Amino acid sequence: MVTEGALRVRKKRDDLIPLLEALAYNLRWSWDPSTLDLFQRLAPEPWARTHNPIAAMQSAINEPDRLAEHAESILERHTNLEHYLTRQPYVRDVPRIAYFCAEFAISETLPIYSGGLGVLAGDHLKAASDLGLPLVAVGLLYRYGYFRQVIDDTGYQREAYDRLDTDTVAVRPVLDAHGGPTLIEVPFPARNVRARVWVAQVGRIPLYLLDTDLAENREDDRWITGHLYGGDQDTRIRQEIVLGIGGLRALRAVLPANAQPEVMHMNEGHSAFLSLELAREQLVAGTAPNFDAALLQSAPHLAFTTHTPVAAGHDAFPSDLVEAYFNGYRQQLGLTHEDFMLYGRREPAATWERFSMTVLALRSAARRNGVSQLHGTVSKEMWGGVGLSLQDAPPAAEMDAITNGVHTATWVGPEMGALYDRQLGEDWRTHPDRAASWTQLAEVDTEAVWAARTAQRARLLERVDAMSRFEGLGGLHPDVTPEKALVLGFARRFATYKRAGLVLTDPDRLVRLMDGGNRPLVIVFAGKAHPRDDPGKLLVQRIVQASRDERFRGRLVFLDNYDVEIARFMVQGSDVWMNTPRRPQEASGTSGMKATLNGALHLSELDGWWDEAYAPGMGWALGEGLAEDLVGDAHDAAEARQLMDLLEFDILPQFFDRDAAGIPRAWLETVARSIQTMAPRFSAQRMVNEYVARFYKPAGAAIGH
Ligand SMILES: *Cc1c(COP(=O)(O)O)cnc(C)c1O
Repeated sequence: MVTEGALRVRKKRDDLIPLLEALAYNLRWSWDPSTLDLFQRLAPEPWARTHNPIAAMQSAINEPDRLAEHAESILERHTNLEHYLTRQPYVRDVPRIAYFCAEFAISETLPIYSGGLGVLAGDHLKAASDLGLPLVAVGLLYRYGYFRQVIDDTGYQREAYDRLDTDTVAVRPVLDAHGGPTLIEVPFPARNVRARVWVAQVGRIPLYLLDTDLAENREDDRWITGHLYGGDQDTRIRQEIVLGIGGLRALRAVLPANAQPEVMHMNEGHSAFLSLELAREQLVAGTAPNFDAALLQSAPHLAFTTHTPVAAGHDAFPSDLVEAYFNGYRQQLGLTHEDFMLYGRREPAATWERFSMTVLALRSAARRNGVSQLHGTVSKEMWGGVGLSLQDAPPAAEMDAITNGVHTATWVGPEMGALYDRQLGEDWRTHPDRAASWTQLAEVDTEAVWAARTAQRARLLERVDAMSRFEGLGGLHPDVTPEKALVLGFARRFATYKRAGLVLTDPDRLVRLMDGGNRPLVIVFAGKAHPRDDPGKLLVQRIVQASRDERFRGRLVFLDNYDVEIARFMVQGSDVWMNTPRRPQEASGTSGMKATLNGALHLSELDGWWDEAYAPGMGWALGEGLAEDLVGDAHDAAEARQLMDLLEFDILPQFFDRDAAGIPRAWLETVARSIQTMAPRFSAQRMVNEYVARFYKPAGAAIGH
């Protein structure tokens, strides 16, 4: 017999499940702590294991009592989500945008990113969602992601690959009119490759992800969306065909005619084949007489962002590889192989040049930009001469600069967030780009800042300590307590130009600084090297070996497997954030923005965003005032000395200048000033608003939106 009480519980359960699913499948939880908190309370054990709302939901729906117990919270969070999704947009009259990128970092539970580019793209979507932009995004669903970093006994990096289980992440197949999966076809030599379309919902923004792992594809084609940046040139060109050409076909398949994008944003050159498909559509429709004309006609619809001045960061394919894949397709464009190659060559006469995706993007997109003011200038020098189509018509924006930003609500730590809520009201959450949202920080109580900073520092140190014990290194040195220690953070890709080892140039001096007794300094490192970058891996090894060295033990630590989760711990808990690239190779850098948002002070080379952000009394600048004629090793050595001087004579004395209550008042005043200045300027909302004002809206106007 079913009792009335049991019926009520079951009824409630049936009502609550759809609400819970809506909450779990919208990645808005990745920047909404209250929703995460709900999932944690609903399923504490699965939560502790996975930190994944989908897993928590799947466990909770089998426990009706638990659901009933939390019914009110579920309803409350669901109402909040509905309100978020339906509220009036903050910007209007924006054309419909499609944003293409090879990687997106939304949450560590959806590992389809490697680093900075993906984080930037993920933050772009989140800010676009907050602003209510009519934007959709396109990427690839990698079954094995980038890689999980495992450090071996010698300190060398090994790569492990975990298969993504689509049943336990916040992605779902896009269904067609008959309820079946949406499949698209991408033209390949002597075959079509099929791709399934998935969607990850990022607040208001759908992120469409293509996946070629289908039984009806050839075995090697199933691996096109296997690994991110893992393969050879052959895999890379296949991935870029699926992303660019397949990506546009996916949008044509999943969006109704009146919702098709008007502006397409190629975030980095990986998606540049998109421009070929746009041109092909016009040739098929008869709206352009030839390929060059079609390209010129599409140009106002296209924007292109370049992300690195480092040559190796620009994909370029050899002529025979291009011909192997485009032989059939280029004929549909009415091009010979030699003609086709010209669109990817900077100098038309340079037949030895490979087919560059950056050049193709520059020949296709009316608007283009670098990602900091300095990078804009450098990119203009690198690419300034490359115009639109082979006619080299001038682009609308010669080479603009739109400085990157970070999504405030994603990166701010819980204690600093709560402090901002108390001190600033809620405006900083909805309008982080407005300076006015942050002005009240001038009057902040430094004791409260110290308490929040200490709580965030403690969380990082706890993690670091646990890891160090787990690895048999005995944990942090007893001097290193959250109330006392200065945490210096360094986390980034281990490419040699970023000089992770700079602070270890003079180990004796570093040992002396760290072993301050009453003035403990701890350095936390994290970062992956690309699997094929052996010099980068040797650099990882050097840092890991230092962390195992008696002299540094418990004071210098390497956290393995740098990802979005580790990044949160580090940017929220560090007191000083260090960045040591060789100028001007860091296009922007964003981790320092995340750290300053949390009250770290920035110690960085005057490169990327810091070149425009630094002002005396607001962090420290490396490379300033050094002799002009210093190059190579001599320059590195001079900067290493400068770094140690800053630590020894400026940073440590200021941080350890405490009052009777143990609080570094002057330091915290600098922190408050730095947050107030940096947080609005380097927010993703400021960045997306700039793209709206300078790219999307003018593009809309040019095409008669
Ligand atoms: C922010 C972030 C990056 C990019 O930071 P940089 O300063 O450009 O190195 C890379 N990886 C992860 C996981 C991040 O969160």
